[in-house]
Amino acid sequence: MPSTLLLGKLAFVTGAGSGIGRAVAIRFAQEGATVIAADRNFQQAEETTKKLGSTHMPIEVDVTNGDNIKSVLEEAINRYKRPPSTIVNCAGITRDAFILKMEDSDFDLVLNVNLKGTYLVMKHAAQRMIDYKLGGSMINISSVTARMGNMGQCNYAPSKAAVDCLSRVASKEFARYGIRVNTVVPGFINTPMTHTVPDKVKDMITANVALRRFGEPEEISDTIAFLASDKSEYITGTSIEVSGGLA
Ligand code: NAD
Repeated sequence: MPSTLLLGKLAFVTGAGSGIGRAVAIRFAQEGATVIAADRNFQQAEETTKKLGSTHMPIEVDVTNGDNIKSVLEEAINRYKRPPSTIVNCAGITRDAFILKMEDSDFDLVLNVNLKGTYLVMKHAAQRMIDYKLGGSMINISSVTARMGNMGQCNYAPSKAAVDCLSRVASKEFARYGIRVNTVVPGFINTPMTHTVPDKVKDMITANVALRRFGEPEEISDTIAFLASDKSEYITGTSIEVSGGLA
C-alpha cells in the first residue's frame, strides 16, 4: 500500500536542490504531498522534481529577497489554486572563518540567508495561509552547532540559534491561525555542505557521536515528514535534535 502520511498537502521546500531539502522533497512526494521545490539554483531544483514527476514544481527563489518570495508564492497559487500550507526552510549556507579572520560581508551573508531568509519565507507564506484560512505546519532547520558554539562558525552557529528562537516566537504568533512551527536540529549530515570537512575533523566529530557516524539526509527528512503530518498535531514551538547522540 502506498504511504499517505502527507496525502493532499501542498509543500513549499526551500533548499530543495540539494542535501536535506532534496531528501525532504523526495520523502514528501513519496508520502502523497505535492512539492514546490524552491532553490536559488533552479537547475538543481529541477533535478529534484525530475525525480518526482510533473505534478511537482521547481522554482527559483532567493530567500533573502522578500519580493522574490512573494512572487514565487503567487506563481504557486496560480498553478495550484491555493497557497502551500506545509513550509520547510532548508536553504542555508556556511562561510566559515575564525572571528579574527571573518570577512564582515560573510558574517552578514550567512545571517541574511539562514536567519532573515527563514523569517521572510515564514512571514510571506503565513500571510497567504491566513488569507486562504488554511492552517498548516512550518519546519525550520537549526543545527547542533548552535548549542556547541563551533569554532570557526561565529556567523553560522548564532544564525542557527536564532532560527530556533525565531521558530518559537512564530509558533506563539501563528497558533491562533492554526499554523504550527517547529525546528529540527540536525547533527552532522552527509550532504554537499559537509563534504568539504577534512577527514581528520570528521573523525574527531564522529568520536563524539554515540552512533559513531554522520547522519544521512533521509534520516532528517523522516522527522520533518512527521512534523509536517497530522500525526504531530499537538506539537508546536519545540525543537527535535536528530544527531545520533552527539555529545
Ligand atoms: P546543501 O548545501 O546541500 O543545500 C543547501 C541548499 O540551499 C542548496 O541547494 C542551495 O542552493 C540552497 N540555497 C542557498 N542559499 C539560498 C538562497 N539564498 N535562496 C534559496 N536557496 C538557497 O546543505 P544541507 O546540508 O542540505 O543543508 C540544509 C539545511 O540544513 C541548511 O539550513 C543547513 O544549515 C542545515 N544543516 C545542515 C547540516 C549538515 O550537516 N549538512 C547540519 C545541521 C544543519
